[in-house]
Amino acid sequence: MYNEKLDNIFLMALLTLTIATLLLHNFSLNQSLIVDANTPFNVHAVTDKTIHSSGGSEATLTTNEDHFLLNCEITSSEYAWPFCEMTLNFTANKVGDMLPPIDLSKLTNVKVYAQYIGDNSAGIRFQLRSFNPAYSTYNNDATWKYNGIEYKPENNSYPVSFNLDTLQVATWWLLENEIPIDLSAPEFDQVMVLEIATGNGIAPGHYQLKIEKVEFTGKVFSNRQIYTSIIMMWVLAAIAGLFINLKRSKEKLVRSINRTSELKKLNSLLNVETKELKNQVERDPLTGALNRAGIEPIFTSEIKILSLIFIDIDHFKSINDNYGHAIGDEILIEFVSLISKNSRATDFLSRWGGEEFLLICPNTKLNEASELAESLRLILSKHHWVKNIKLTSSFGVAQKGKESVDQFIERADKALYAAKAQGRNTVVTSKGSAIDSSITF
Ligand code: GH3
Ligand code: MG
Ligand code: MG
Repeated sequence: MYNEKLDNIFLMALLTLTIATLLLHNFSLNQSLIVDANTPFNVHAVTDKTIHSSGGSEATLTTNEDHFLLNCEITSSEYAWPFCEMTLNFTANKVGDMLPPIDLSKLTNVKVYAQYIGDNSAGIRFQLRSFNPAYSTYNNDATWKYNGIEYKPENNSYPVSFNLDTLQVATWWLLENEIPIDLSAPEFDQVMVLEIATGNGIAPGHYQLKIEKVEFTGKVFSNRQIYTSIIMMWVLAAIAGLFINLKRSKEKLVRSINRTSELKKLNSLLNVETKELKNQVERDPLTGALNRAGIEPIFTSEIKILSLIFIDIDHFKSINDNYGHAIGDEILIEFVSLISKNSRATDFLSRWGGEEFLLICPNTKLNEASELAESLRLILSKHHWVKNIKLTSSFGVAQKGKESVDQFIERADKALYAAKAQGRNTVVTSKGSAIDSSITF
């Protein structure tokens, strides 16, 4: 729940940032460059006569308070392309300092405030000359790329406004400088010179070109930069989100593993407790043998062949009398342990009371039970008991017939009584049953 809320805040923040960036980019973050009569850059007039020996045109440039005035006398000569031009040199200021070329690539729009005043009018050429070390040299202006446009001022509103990408590279210049196609597009990142000149095919005569200013406007960041950074931001956020989610899932997994193991521990603790409770209910606390309640299920189960050995320690009272009750207890514990070890895993030993025990033997016939009783009798009598006490036991064996459990136990008890009567340390087997009641002890 908490995580979801965080995710939403994160998403909202990203969205807000994206929208804010787009709004800022579109409605603010502008930059501009204005070239007017106050420009610090070096400005001068150029004509065909200046650049070519056979040229005849002449021009002067005056800088007035709020405009430049290019006074131009176009004269026909051997040179086929007469012109007058105002050249603004971005790489030099009026004092004569050298400056680096100017980067206009972020500027998208140009407004040219230029018009003919006086009687004659002609076309206007607007040119930006750019430098590229791939094909230009600094001191040969013929190697600077011509990015330009020519228009008739009378066909356009004043000022003339156009996108910078309207400018085209002069094809004669591309050919003359053998520029490869991949370098033929207009470039504005290292502009050397801005030129405003009379148009092509101009008739001889006097022209006055008034240039108030040239205004470049554009964005601080290009669309490409803005969109790339927005996409990068979302991609990074997505990657970060993925990592965070992965971490969260891992933590969740660890938590659930821990919880499972805790539950397992609790479960096994409960199992132990249940077992202990069961033991408390079903076992004799001194010897660990089953008590009467513990053997009840065996008698009520539907085992077909079931034999019983009733065991009673001989003269146990005298052991208590001679050695004390504690030694008597010790012997009882040892007694149970011996019988358990020497009977089968399927037999159940129960303390019937005092020093009397029942060994219940499922799936055991009478003769097998008698043999088992005999072997136990020998083992018990030969065992080295504490304080070197001599100890024997008497055994009464019976196999269950169609009789009640009480009758069955009573029969085994009677056999035991017979063993005592025969002088103890003996096994007596009851051959009868409730059905066969003719044979009794
Ligand atoms: P026999 O069976 O051979 O006829 O003689 P006995 O002395 O074993 O007979 P009896 O059943 O009269 O005596 C049983 C004695 O067992 C009496 C009692 O003091 C002792 N006894 C019963 N339960 C315990 C016990 O938990 N601990 C100890 N130390 N003695 C016990
Ligand atoms: Mg006894
Ligand atoms: Mg007894």
